[in-house]
Amino acid sequence: MKGIGVSPGIAIGKAFVLQRQEALMTGVLLSNETEILQEVERFDLAVNRAVHDIETLTSDRNHTLQDDELAVLETHIELLTDPQIRADIVEKIETEKKNANDALIEVIDNFVLIFESMDDEYMRGRSIDIKDISRRILGRLKGQRETAAPAFGPDTIIIAEDISPSDTITMDIKHVVGFATQAGSKTSHTAIIARSKGIPAVAGCGEALGGITTGDLIILDGSNGLVYVNPDQEIMDAYLIKRTAFRQQRAQLLALKDTQAITTDGEKITLSANISGADDMAEVFDKGGEGVGLFRTELLFMGRDSFPSEDEQFEFYKNAALQAKGKPVVVRTLDIGGDKHLPYFNLPAELNPFLGYRAIRICLDRKDLFMSQLKAILRASVFGDLKIMFPMISGLQELRQAKNILGEAKSELLRDAVAFNAGIKVGVMIEIPSAAITADILAKEADFFSIGTNDLCQYTLAVDRMNEKIAHLYDPFNPGVLRLIKNVIEQGCQNNIHVGMCGEMSSDPLATLLLLGMGLKDFSMSAAAIPAIKNIIINNSMAKAKEIQHKVMAMDSSEKIMAYLKEATQ
Ligand code: PEP
Ligand code: MG
Repeated sequence: MKGIGVSPGIAIGKAFVLQRQEALMTGVLLSNETEILQEVERFDLAVNRAVHDIETLTSDRNHTLQDDELAVLETHIELLTDPQIRADIVEKIETEKKNANDALIEVIDNFVLIFESMDDEYMRGRSIDIKDISRRILGRLKGQRETAAPAFGPDTIIIAEDISPSDTITMDIKHVVGFATQAGSKTSHTAIIARSKGIPAVAGCGEALGGITTGDLIILDGSNGLVYVNPDQEIMDAYLIKRTAFRQQRAQLLALKDTQAITTDGEKITLSANISGADDMAEVFDKGGEGVGLFRTELLFMGRDSFPSEDEQFEFYKNAALQAKGKPVVVRTLDIGGDKHLPYFNLPAELNPFLGYRAIRICLDRKDLFMSQLKAILRASVFGDLKIMFPMISGLQELRQAKNILGEAKSELLRDAVAFNAGIKVGVMIEIPSAAITADILAKEADFFSIGTNDLCQYTLAVDRMNEKIAHLYDPFNPGVLRLIKNVIEQGCQNNIHVGMCGEMSSDPLATLLLLGMGLKDFSMSAAAIPAIKNIIINNSMAKAKEIQHKVMAMDSSEKIMAYLKEATQ
């Protein structure tokens, strides 16, 4: 069977077909006003309990949920409390005298149809979230709590229509070696979870997957998007060899953990990691990371119902500083807005949220929020090598404003005799084209730069990074983007300030030599990507990187650039 390889690697194991309990209509009608009122109450109670179930999961201090999972669960709370969904259901109960079970099934089916017919791949994928919340409410209407997860034997390959966030949260994943789903794509929940856990996965296999029964022998090739059911010996032998080779390659890369990232002609490169909390730190060191180039602080602000206090934030940053054991940690101040929302912070609906009220713009406007974050970071700075970085700076004015507020935060701490690192370094994220073009000006007043290619690319090319329909236009190898990046690195070097990169491009093996050739010395990425990038660095020279850079910058299109890089980096 052919699907989409969404998480690389080879898995060989026994199928476990994840069955969904069909949501069944009862056909029972309500007979009087009292029953109708009671039914609406029963529905509201079931929703409240379902919300509470999720909140219990996310607020558990020992939870092992990933960032993405927390974000999904937050969407679920939003959907559960969506006034439109409730209004539609209550209307069915009141006017059609349907019971809550039947009203819910009908309304949700309708929403699922709407989502499934959307053009946007990401939005189509969200129908699974709607089905998931419907199952939660139905369960609660029947008085059930979370259903217990099935127990899996060793080497289990999960076969499912799709894997919902609730499935992966309750699933005992330690015996799971692969996932194959009928639906889904690279952005589906299954894909995100599988990649973050390093489990091979194939999504979008379609109806054919329905023919598999629990216990079938499966080979799953997550690198090429293939699923074999009860394969013959010849295929099995070939895949046993491939699996060994894949594992060896992964082990070889991991064995580089304590090897320094030095080019063959002696240039030392720093490889650090992007994290969202102190819990990610163990993996950073496991994968050979030398510190944290980007600490996204949004996680602490999510999955709760009010802003964290200065003290709570202090504990969060202090914990990260301590876990880093003296290695540098670049703490980015709050970057909400755009695609990141907080349920308790009513951001206005905007026509262009990515061009709107977000990140440093909110912080400069809401000085109270900014001050408490800055004071918390400063207080934590005596526990490790913390640095502060401002996101979404568009020019010098904003940098000065942000630094002034940082100055006020320092003065207040001094006044109150609270310890902090007075010499804390202050950096700027370069992710808006105007900042990249004026890097020479900004470099005079910043201690370091970090290039955020995710946003820099979307703003330079005017391509919404969340919009699947134009995903093919989102192109970090566009000569315009490359020129901006090169300018930032050069201006940083000329002004003697440190330049790093923390956007996704720093983990793209195709870009490594080009960026090295431009003079980038500090790459920050998800910890899992570090070994492969290190492998490129230790097997190549700066001389080669410079030559590649020279040739690439003379090319006129990203097609030529990418084709050349593929060849040159073989
Ligand atoms: C970026 O924009 O490149 C970046 C690293 O920040 P984020 O992805 O959090 O916007
Ligand atoms: Mg950004």
